[in-house]
Amino acid sequence: MTDVVIAGAGVIGLATAWQSLVAGLTVTIVDPAPASGASHASAGMLPPLNELLVNDEPLLRLCLASRERYRSFVAELEEDSGMSAGFRGDGVLDVAFTAGDVAALDALGRFARSRGIRCEPLSGEGCRDLEPSLAPSVAGGLLAPDDGAVNPRQLNAALLAAIRRRGGEVRQAEVTEVLLGGRAEGVRLRDGETVRGDRVVLAAGCWTHRLGGLPAGTVPEVRPVKGQILRLHADPPLLGRATRATVDGSAVYLVPRGDGELVVGATYEEAGYDTTTTVAGLTELLGKAQRVLPGCGRLGFAEFGTGLRPGSPDDQPMIGHTAVPGLLLATGHFRIGVQLAPITADAVTAMLVTGDTPELVKPFSPLRFR
Ligand SMILES: Cc1cc2nc3c(=O)[nH]c(=O)nc-3n(C[C@H](O)[C@H](O)[C@H](O)COP(=O)(O)OP(=O)(O)OC[C@H]3O[C@@H](n4cnc5c(N)ncnc54)[C@H](O)[C@@H]3O)c2cc1C
Repeated sequence: MTDVVIAGAGVIGLATAWQSLVAGLTVTIVDPAPASGASHASAGMLPPLNELLVNDEPLLRLCLASRERYRSFVAELEEDSGMSAGFRGDGVLDVAFTAGDVAALDALGRFARSRGIRCEPLSGEGCRDLEPSLAPSVAGGLLAPDDGAVNPRQLNAALLAAIRRRGGEVRQAEVTEVLLGGRAEGVRLRDGETVRGDRVVLAAGCWTHRLGGLPAGTVPEVRPVKGQILRLHADPPLLGRATRATVDGSAVYLVPRGDGELVVGATYEEAGYDTTTTVAGLTELLGKAQRVLPGCGRLGFAEFGTGLRPGSPDDQPMIGHTAVPGLLLATGHFRIGVQLAPITADAVTAMLVTGDTPELVKPFSPLRFR
């Protein structure tokens, strides 16, 4: 019997498992293919803000708290695991091509500064001084010098190592049923074996509501939102920092890694559980990347893949207690799960230790859909 059983070892389940172990709980985390879901596909961008957050105070506060926590989370994880999490805090650059998009960036910058985020508006020339490979048509930009990106594959590997070092059990198995007897009691695995726990956290991304044994309405549907994402190889690197742009009304981001990888993301598609890569997806990403970085046509092709973002009914995270005692949810992080992993892990751990829900995550209670 363990204190906590976690179903799903994506970045959310893994971060929660690690922080629960740090807090002194015993943990078993179960996943047929740990770190293979959205968290494996993810670009790992950690921008300070986006335009959607400006009018969403609760989510903005959650994002800012996770941003505040990121560096210490990574430092503690690297110490615990002995591995790099691939974090870089060398800035996020937003660039714009039209006067309207430059004005929108200026407004975003003013809002960011009002919330204590350092950022500075740049002319097109200023952007190219920083990033000489940017297109001559870039008309302006916004630099957030304290923000950056993390390599989710390295982050997940470090989390798995830290969990094992702290004595957490990682079971490579599929959860077929959540065991409930008035309260959460554990999970059943595909081979019939049971894993007993005092509390159960469901963190299986867009597969969470499909776990067996859940009474109707306990877990709201988690919608898969397909993202196709491209990895190029740039040696020497074409970009020095994570860069976002709006191209013809929709966003693209380019994230350079230390090993020469350049990640170009991503499509947003409501396509159910389909994970095929398509010519249309590739064309969209390459077209946008070339608008931002005209020289990227000569780069090598490293990987083209997909991931399924977990979208809740209102596209906001679901963090906290369900109507079943001892059964908690940590999912629905949609397109910002890597960004929100530290604060989610801290909040769920606090709930597991004290039973109380931290103020910050109260708006994200799964019970809001009842
Ligand atoms: C293309 C793309 C780009 C993205 N870019 C960013 C970004 O730049 N920044 C950012 O913050 N976020 C980004 N995201 C979003 C982010 O990746 C997700 O929000 C986050 O990874 C969700 O993590 P998760 O642990 O909830 O889900 P997942 O990573 O999907 O993990 C769920 C896990 O549950 C497991 N599972 C499934 N069924 C079962 C079962 N029956 N039993 C046990 N386990 C099971 C799966 O194997 C999987 O490992 C991106 C997503 C995509 C797809």
